[in-house]
Amino acid sequence: MNEALNMNDDKPHEECGVFGIFGHSDAAELVALGLHALQHRGQEAAGIVSFDGRKFNLERRLGLVGDSFSHESVISRLRGQAAIGHNRYATTGDTVLRNVQPFFADLSGGGLAVAHNGNLTNATALRRRLVANGAIFQSTSDTEVLVHLVATSRETRLVQRLVDALRQLEGAYSLVTLTNKKMIGVRDPLGVRPLVLGEFDGCHVLASETCALDIIGAKFIRDVAAGEMVVITEEGIESHFPFPKAQSRFCVFEYIYFSRPDSIAEGRSVYECRRRIGEELAREAPVKADLVAPIPDSGTPAAIGYASTVGIPFELGIIRNHYVGRTFIEPAQRIRQLGVKLKHNANRGNIAGKRVVLVDDSIVRGTTSMKIVQMMRDAGAKEVHMRIACPPTTHSCFYGVDTPERDKLLAFDRTVEQMRAAIGADSLAFISMDGLYRAMGCSARDKTSPQFCDACFTGEYPTRLTDQVELPKERQLSLLAEGM
Ligand code: SF4
Repeated sequence: MNEALNMNDDKPHEECGVFGIFGHSDAAELVALGLHALQHRGQEAAGIVSFDGRKFNLERRLGLVGDSFSHESVISRLRGQAAIGHNRYATTGDTVLRNVQPFFADLSGGGLAVAHNGNLTNATALRRRLVANGAIFQSTSDTEVLVHLVATSRETRLVQRLVDALRQLEGAYSLVTLTNKKMIGVRDPLGVRPLVLGEFDGCHVLASETCALDIIGAKFIRDVAAGEMVVITEEGIESHFPFPKAQSRFCVFEYIYFSRPDSIAEGRSVYECRRRIGEELAREAPVKADLVAPIPDSGTPAAIGYASTVGIPFELGIIRNHYVGRTFIEPAQRIRQLGVKLKHNANRGNIAGKRVVLVDDSIVRGTTSMKIVQMMRDAGAKEVHMRIACPPTTHSCFYGVDTPERDKLLAFDRTVEQMRAAIGADSLAFISMDGLYRAMGCSARDKTSPQFCDACFTGEYPTRLTDQVELPKERQLSLLAEGM
């Protein structure tokens, strides 16, 4: 073990969280709280746009929501009864202030602010066309493409212009937009990323997850449906379905890892799904051991399910230091090489001499898994068995989740036995695809029309991947560098 250990180093990262409220005198402050509850969806930057009846007010900052939006001086500049906000984890475009959302543009007919969770799979192709027609981009984010498409639409009314723009997009998007009269929420036709509708103090709220409704005491009304556009005004709410109907393909990884366990997504408790995954995994891959320990924190519900099903005690084998923030100064390389356990440490008294089952939500590159197995052995574990609460991750995500290039994935070209040998465990098992679907309450995966997006396990992407097909990676990077 020669590097500092951080369990989140080798995880896929969700790109964004969105939140909006319409018609409340404390709109910006409520948005800041909502974004705080969604901090797990993006920690690199946050922004809020409000409308005060006369003008739009915009604050965008790098860093955590609490660091940027807990000051009265910042919130007081975000006057108005309507506001939307965004947490960002950068996968498209660098983390520079010009890429931080919400995006705002003064269009003919009024201002438009956009907060986007997801990723467009034809953004580069669209951007190239727009630039060829004279558009000037201010950021490298794919979300700005949408703003340009709205700006150049030939439709006259803003909602129609937005629909016109959305019909040109491919990929995944859950959007919250704000105009001087409306707050609009939209999910892509397959509903890959989440978006929920709530009510607080007589006002409508839109949020990526229900945990963001809970933080302000808002009532959950329902999920915004796949392909649905909800238009919220002073008169109330209208629902539109502007796209051809399609089988919804919600991201199954939201249940495995991204969403907070206290959220309810598409009618399922995220915590319950994770616990049931652990139960299925135990039925598929039991092992004789002395204790079951989670990889903190997202492996915990699956470990509880696994332990209760095999009848082995659930114990904490790894202890997390909760006081390591992003501001902690990373130790110098010389110290790191000594194996500093900055965030996590083995619970030696529980581990020494024991046969340990470690339950983790996923394996991406495998680098962290190797360190954890070694950490368990260093703490005296007699055997270390790894159980993974998702199938092997064999493909990259193009829908707003930061995963490495395919050939960097541990499962890319390895059998389970080769992966076991690579991470140094005594045994390794992943939940099967059908087991995962059973844990979601389905009888099995419908092979002709799967109920979820599971492309990172199957390679069966539910939308066109125009940019991947038409533009080799190098070309895309050079286009981005050229600002195209
Ligand atoms: Fe989710 Fe994987 Fe589909 Fe990406 S490819 S949307 S992470 S299931």
